[in-house]
Amino acid sequence: MAYDSNNIFAKILRGEAPCIKVYEDGDTLAFMDLMPQADGHVLIVPKEPAETLLELSEEGAMAAIRTTRRIAIAVKKALGVEGLHVAQLNGAAAGQTVPHIHFHVIPHATGTVLRM
Ligand code: 5GP
Repeated sequence: MAYDSNNIFAKILRGEAPCIKVYEDGDTLAFMDLMPQADGHVLIVPKEPAETLLELSEEGAMAAIRTTRRIAIAVKKALGVEGLHVAQLNGAAAGQTVPHIHFHVIPHATGTVLRM
């Protein structure tokens, strides 16, 4: 399917919608999830216009996983949590609700269940 640049993450990337930014570099933007599944839930969004991981370039994927790892390390250090989910959904059938590729970093204590 063709990429739809009207999605909310595209608007955030263009500065047309607000976000609580936690990290930015030339290839990625990371910000707090509006409806977090746990305190400290961060989204990592590649700047490249791609709906899913399947359309993202290899360079974009490398940049996204590098930023995701950095965010995971920072969140674990800041919150002192025991574990983290790193999640990435592709397509509505898989539960993706925003059609711009993104990774979730979700802090978890032992025994918590991921709602996804
Ligand atoms: P998905 O289900 O597509 O993997 O995840 C989309 C995520 O984006 C959800 O966790 C949802 O809470 C978050 N989200 C949706 N709209 C906004 C928004 O306008 N701002 C922010 N910061 N997060 C959003």
